[in-house]
Amino acid sequence: MSNELLIYIDGKYYPRSQAKISVYDHGFLYGDGVFEGIREYNGVVFKLKEHIDRLFSSAHAITLKIPLTKEEMIQAVVETLRKNKMKDSYIRLVVSRGVGDLGLDPRKCPKPTIVIITDTISIRAADAKEVGVTTMFSWVRRNRVDATSQEIKSLNYLNSVLAKIEANACGVDEALCLESNGCLAEGVGENVFIVKNGELMTPPTSTGALAGITAEVVKGLVAKLGLKLTVTNLTPFMIFNADEAFFTGTAMEMVPIREVNKRQIGTGKPGPITKRLMAEFQKVIEDPTQGTKV
Ligand code: PMP
Repeated sequence: MSNELLIYIDGKYYPRSQAKISVYDHGFLYGDGVFEGIREYNGVVFKLKEHIDRLFSSAHAITLKIPLTKEEMIQAVVETLRKNKMKDSYIRLVVSRGVGDLGLDPRKCPKPTIVIITDTISIRAADAKEVGVTTMFSWVRRNRVDATSQEIKSLNYLNSVLAKIEANACGVDEALCLESNGCLAEGVGENVFIVKNGELMTPPTSTGALAGITAEVVKGLVAKLGLKLTVTNLTPFMIFNADEAFFTGTAMEMVPIREVNKRQIGTGKPGPITKRLMAEFQKVIEDPTQGTKV
């Protein structure tokens, strides 16, 4: 028996080195597909139902009919975790249009491809939660909602990749993405919150950011702590002058932002409201009622 991770492809399990899909798959040829990134904490898949709902909404938006029910998809994720005896994993669930011909017409793809990978992920420095990250507005605008909007969690992530390339080139930890009206949309794979005078603000998802599941959890924590949150357009000026700012996302979790385009945010250290919310967030992810047991 090999020690390799087992990867689910269309109902079968393959060792990682043999887990392959066709080069005619339209997910590969055209980025035609949808995906989710999900975390499992201590044997509980955090907000799995919410991720599956979003996956099906993304698929619906691109007229991709997933050949499993939501319940079957949940079971497939749980079964893949069981097979791999994983603890504290990061799950990548991908549904592509499937194998077709070299034209882009989705009608040529009779069967979607489903892939489930249960692995780990590392997208930030070890001390990022304690010291915060540096960021910059990249020149790459988010697509309008009538283009390949980030509201759809599709395999078209070049918009985010370009922004990340810019941050890398400038020696900055993460990129911030503006929408076409010049206001903040989100990070490359995170939502953003700021704090000003004790109140929180975050951009609306209606302008092309993904409706983050972590952001939704954090919104609940803001309410629990009796803090005020406004969903509103955030200009670069408002962000430069925020007292605190932080990212939320499945892979990133909650991470303070300490700098934007060389402007220090607040004291340059994680602020008190960010720290309180991070502590509350930690409690939620450790709460077994917040997800699906493996
Ligand atoms: N925006 C984008 C573009 C993302 O890819 C992600 C990661 N899924 C997020 C925001 C954060 O969403 P969530 O909290 O659901 O992971």
